[in-house]
Amino acid sequence: MSMRNMFKGGVAVPHYKNTAGCSTVKMGVPEKVVIPMVQHIGAPCEPVVKKGDNVKVGQVIGSSDKYVSSPIHSSVSGVVSDISPRLYPGGVSVMTVEIKTDGKQEIHESVTPPKYSSKKEFLEIIRQSGLVGLGGAGFPAHVKLSPPPDKPVDTLIINGAECEPFITSDYRHIIENSDSIIDGIKMLIDVLEVKHVWIGIEDNKPEAIKLLSGITDEDSTIDVVKLKSRYPQGAEKMLIYSITGRKVPPGKLPADVGVIVMNVNSVSFISQHMKTGMPLIKKIVTVDGSAVKNPSNVEVLIGTPLEDVFNFTGGFKSEPRKVLMGGPMMGIAQFSLQAPVLKHTNALLAFDEADAKVPPESPCIRCGKCVSACPMNLLPLSLNFNVLKGNMDELHNLHINDCIECGSCSYVCPSKRHLVQSIRLGKAQLRQAAAKGGK
Ligand code: SF4
Ligand code: SF4
Repeated sequence: MSMRNMFKGGVAVPHYKNTAGCSTVKMGVPEKVVIPMVQHIGAPCEPVVKKGDNVKVGQVIGSSDKYVSSPIHSSVSGVVSDISPRLYPGGVSVMTVEIKTDGKQEIHESVTPPKYSSKKEFLEIIRQSGLVGLGGAGFPAHVKLSPPPDKPVDTLIINGAECEPFITSDYRHIIENSDSIIDGIKMLIDVLEVKHVWIGIEDNKPEAIKLLSGITDEDSTIDVVKLKSRYPQGAEKMLIYSITGRKVPPGKLPADVGVIVMNVNSVSFISQHMKTGMPLIKKIVTVDGSAVKNPSNVEVLIGTPLEDVFNFTGGFKSEPRKVLMGGPMMGIAQFSLQAPVLKHTNALLAFDEADAKVPPESPCIRCGKCVSACPMNLLPLSLNFNVLKGNMDELHNLHINDCIECGSCSYVCPSKRHLVQSIRLGKAQLRQAAAKGGK
């Protein structure tokens, strides 16, 4: 079936899905992995290993007793060679565990298929598995799957939209692991007692739609929805509206309208984890961009330095001038190829000089294109103006925190104004002010 609603705004971006036909290739064990203690939204983990410790695959190396957090596991066997704070994009310093690998990939004794007989036990297993939202946000999955009792959830949406240009890792996951995806969905239907499941996929992936529609044909609880390819179709609020017509109010969560959204990768992981007990230690990553010699989809151990991943695919065909973790619309620019692949990394893009050029900003001509493109009904030009002026009160009035940082406004701006960058800065300034006891 096709979608019934179309969200307001958004942009038609070129797809550049060059790697859609590239089967996932498994990368070997790197010489070392670099594993930061924050790979999720919520409280950071504390290292529970020390320098010189021997560790095995699947062993917990970082944890927190806070509810909104997610444990971190070793993706390799080897020796802990360093524990120190390291600088990551955004100027954030994060405690990081470095492990020199021994190539044996010995599996830790804690890795055994888990058993559960209640929802509570299931959620505890999910928590201990280290699963976070694999669609990009990194929200701990056990929290997402535990809506408060006064917010009954009747609908589960599986996000296979993958609306960012270049990225095909979810698409490959559907093609290569469809059985795990359906198996994970069935587990969630039992545990969450939802009435209906929708799998949302953009119409530029007809093979994925056909495959999953065929498998779910006889199942009246699961439907595949063909979504119009329009960015940011895969953002939670847009996806929920497109499929159910329900609007998540500003500042509210999907559970407020009776919905939980999970990424295709996440449900597939749940199925595989329940069979093996192996926690989240690997990711499928799309490697592409004008500077990349051989665009590919690669299964990578979490913590693998980006340089190793690029080298594995054949390296660069020209000097990379911009490297992004994630897609070109929402990805985070990297300043070092020694940064590691994280739990929610879905793409590594490297662009040459011509594509990396940032055009100079010119004054706003008040054309209103950014307003029309904003799927959250915000006024990006006014947000930009007030961030630059330091008008903090006005930023609240303009609902800056409703911005999902999709970048649609920057994409359409004829004056090339750095709208989303300034909004991110404004949000960070408001957070700092709040931490100091301001608004
Ligand atoms: S799109 Fe750019 S030029 Fe047009 S109103 Fe928005 S900020 Fe101004
Ligand atoms: S203001 Fe935020 S939500 Fe609106 S288009 Fe710009 S980045 Fe997207």
